Amino acid sequence: MDPSGNDGLLPAITSRTVNEELGAEVFFKCENLQRMGAFKFRGAFNALSKFTPEQRKAGVIAFSSGNHAQAIALAARLLGIPATIVMPHDAPAAKVAATKGYGGDVVVYDRYQEDREQIGRELAEKHGLTLIPPYDHPDVLAGQGTAAKELFEEVGPLDAFFAPLGGGGLLSGCALAARALAPTCSIYGVEPEAGNDGQQSFRSGNIVHIETPRTIADGAQTQHLGHITFPLIRRDVTDILTASDAELVECMAFMASRMKLVVEPTGCLGFAAARQMKSRLRGKRVGVLVSGGNVDLARFCSLVASASFIAC
Ligand SMILES: *Cc1c(COP(=O)(O)O)cnc(C)c1O
Repeated sequence: MDPSGNDGLLPAITSRTVNEELGAEVFFKCENLQRMGAFKFRGAFNALSKFTPEQRKAGVIAFSSGNHAQAIALAARLLGIPATIVMPHDAPAAKVAATKGYGGDVVVYDRYQEDREQIGRELAEKHGLTLIPPYDHPDVLAGQGTAAKELFEEVGPLDAFFAPLGGGGLLSGCALAARALAPTCSIYGVEPEAGNDGQQSFRSGNIVHIETPRTIADGAQTQHLGHITFPLIRRDVTDILTASDAELVECMAFMASRMKLVVEPTGCLGFAAARQMKSRLRGKRVGVLVSGGNVDLARFCSLVASASFIAC
């Protein structure tokens, strides 16, 4: 299996309508079509592949109610490693079910009464489990970067590349790939407008911490960048941009209607920023990373129904 975990490469997708709208040549790397529905599978699979035989035998532990949980559970199953996933008791039932479906052993905790770090530490110590965090880990971010690596190798030189930004595993990995394969390409990370800690950190030079932001982009509701991801982003990224929830909804509706793609709100951050930049991208070759498609169908429908873009 290649580093993406896929048996074959998913080709980049293009849209004539998008190219006309932006006056650019745009290539979408569609991680919503990735295994388990998001790029997180790459980092999880890469990190677990590097376990020693002892670590494999004892197992992995992760805290997550989102895509990282499913990614660790699936990668662990494929590699024959036992996985324990610590989730809040009020995590969406669909996410708990998906994680269990991939064979993960789900441990729930009360997020108002219990300290998940302590629960995790106790479980890890008692059973000798290895903790894999969602972004601040060298093997995780290296795995995420294979998404950009594949795009650069497939489509050739790009002038600009846009990727969503939460804790920065995806962006730092993609920036590393660009450093080696596309050093002249401008790299942009895109955050939800309500949670621009990464932009503040990038501009101030220090990791800024914020309260959990209120946004529909649940994959990017992180409170701060990582100690490993931040210096890589500061060194190799061109700028950090933001997109509003309303812009994300417009992109979801557009991508569903015109490109036949189901994309979760966070997955639209890169495209939303490329649309904002429009005039500056004229005549350029542009890469847009679509990070995931895990959105409950009822939620997808109600969000898309509120878009001003008329889908049909
Ligand atoms: C986790 C996630 C992100 C953010 O990735 P980071 O590595 O935390 O920056 C973006 N989109 C989706 C769909 C995600 O699951």
